[in-house]
Amino acid sequence: MAYIKDGIGIIGVNALHHPNRQRFSAAHELAHHVLHDEDIRQAVHVDKGIRVLFRDDISALGTEPIEIEANAFASELLIPGDLLAAVLEGGGVDLEDEAAIEGLARRFRVSPAAMRFRLTRW
Ligand SMILES: [Zn+2]
Repeated sequence: MAYIKDGIGIIGVNALHHPNRQRFSAAHELAHHVLHDEDIRQAVHVDKGIRVLFRDDISALGTEPIEIEANAFASELLIPGDLLAAVLEGGGVDLEDEAAIEGLARRFRVSPAAMRFRLTRW
């Protein structure tokens, strides 16, 4: 969740979630502060839908424009394009290659689903 109280930006993540998921959630909520501060000033913004990123169904990703933007922001923040390019050394990766995706995900401390999401927007 993200909100602004008395001018102070606040981000909350579920401490029971996997650390990689907490990192993505924090980055997603940071995106709301950076991109959607007018929205989160009006009411506490609670995200439940971003958990779809942690399933394998990439097509089920957020449908609201601000959620799509926040997921893209988080993805690019946690997996910067220049670092990803350096790791891939100008090559690509087969999205069906589970071991390769998991290896990249470990390097960037994201879930394999988050890595797959980033690679499809590469
Ligand atoms: Zn959100």
